[in-house]
Amino acid sequence: MRKPLMRIPYTELLPSPTVYPAGATTLSTAVTALQEFFLCPAPRGLPASTVVLSGAGLSVASGLADYRGVNGTYRVNKTYRPIYYHEFVSNHEARKRYWARSFLGWTTLHKASPNAGHHAVRDLGDLGLISRVITQNVDSFHPRAHPHIPTLELHGYLRATVCTSCRTEFPRDTFQDELARLNPAWASFLTDVLASGALETEDPDERRRRGFRTNPDGDVDLPDAPYTTFRYPACPSCLANPPALADGSRAVVAVDGQGAWKAPSSAGILKPAVVMFGESIAAEVKHAAEEAIDGSGRLLVLATSLATYSAWRLAKRAKDRGMPIAIINVGGVRGEESFFTHLDPKQTGAQGVRVELSTQELLPALVDVLQQTAPKAQRNRGSSSISHKDGASAFKDMLS
Ligand SMILES: [Zn+2]
Repeated sequence: MRKPLMRIPYTELLPSPTVYPAGATTLSTAVTALQEFFLCPAPRGLPASTVVLSGAGLSVASGLADYRGVNGTYRVNKTYRPIYYHEFVSNHEARKRYWARSFLGWTTLHKASPNAGHHAVRDLGDLGLISRVITQNVDSFHPRAHPHIPTLELHGYLRATVCTSCRTEFPRDTFQDELARLNPAWASFLTDVLASGALETEDPDERRRRGFRTNPDGDVDLPDAPYTTFRYPACPSCLANPPALADGSRAVVAVDGQGAWKAPSSAGILKPAVVMFGESIAAEVKHAAEEAIDGSGRLLVLATSLATYSAWRLAKRAKDRGMPIAIINVGGVRGEESFFTHLDPKQTGAQGVRVELSTQELLPALVDVLQQTAPKAQRNRGSSSISHKDGASAFKDMLS
C-alpha cells in the first residue's frame, strides 16, 4: 500500500537562487525569458499546455501575510504556531483556541480579494497558455479569479468547514455567524477591534495601541471571556443523526443549551476544510495533482518556496518527466538547483527559467507582452483588469 502523503512544515534555511537564464534579473529580461518559455514548442512527446503550481507569496499582495517571510524560514509573527491535526481532533481545549483565533481572523480574510497575480493567471489561461492550476493556498483566490481554469486546492480551503465524522461540508460564513451567536463577548470585541482598525496592521505595538492585546502566546484573552470559554457548534448532521463508530456502537453528540459542542461527545467535530499540518492529503487530491502534472508539458511555479513536501514532489515529478520548469519566487526554493542542472548554458528560457521578482509585478507585464504578440484568435478578453489592493492584512497564522 502506498504511504499517505502528510502535510508537514519545513523549517530548513533555503539558499539564495541562481537566476536562469543568467541575464533575467530585470523585469524586461525576465519577461523575455518567460515569453520564450511559453512560446517555444514543448519537448517531444509532451502536451503543449502549462500547469501552474502556486503558493502563499501569490496572496501577499492581497494583504494575506506569508508567514514564512521572504527569506524562507523567518517568521513574521514570532508567536505563530500552527495547530496539528491530531491536536485539533483530540483536544477540545485546542479547538477552542483555534476557533477563537479563527473567529477574529476570518473577517479580514473574507474581505480580501484576488490580486493582479491571480488575474494574470486568468489572462494567461485566456491566451491558451495555462490549462490548470494546482495551489497550496487555502484562500480560494484562484477559483475566484479564474473560474474557467480548473484549480486543484492541494491543501484544501478555508471557505468551508468539514465534519471529521460524516465529512459533510458547511459554509464558513454561516459558521462565523454561529460563532458570534455562541460567543457574544467575542462578537462585540471583534466589532470594536474592526472599528479601531487594529486588524489592519501586522505590527503588534500598533495593534496594542488600538486595543488589540494578545498574551505571550499570541492569543487574545478577554477579561470577562477567556478563550478557554470559547464555544463552537457541533455538526448539525451528526447532532440530528449520530453516526456509527468503528466498533459499531452509536456515537454520542452532546451540545449545551445553545448548540455548542460539549464533552464527552465522540463525534460531530467541525474542522476547517484545509489540510492541517500532520494531516494526510486525501488520496483523490494527491492523484488529481499527479494527473495535472502528467497532463501538461510545462510547469510554472509561482510564489512558493516548495517547502511542503506535497508541493515539492510535484515539481520533482515534472522534472522527471522532462518538463521545462519556470520558477518565479522571491527567495530560495527547496532543492531548486536540481530542477535546472541539465540546462544548456546558452538556452534563453525554453528549457527553464528561474527569476527572483514579484509575481504581482512580473505576471501582468508578461501578459501585456503576450497579448500583443498572440494570434488574435487566442485573445478571448481585453487587457487584464486592474485589481485593487485591500490593504487588509489577514491573520493568516490565525487561520491555517
Ligand atoms: Zn457530521
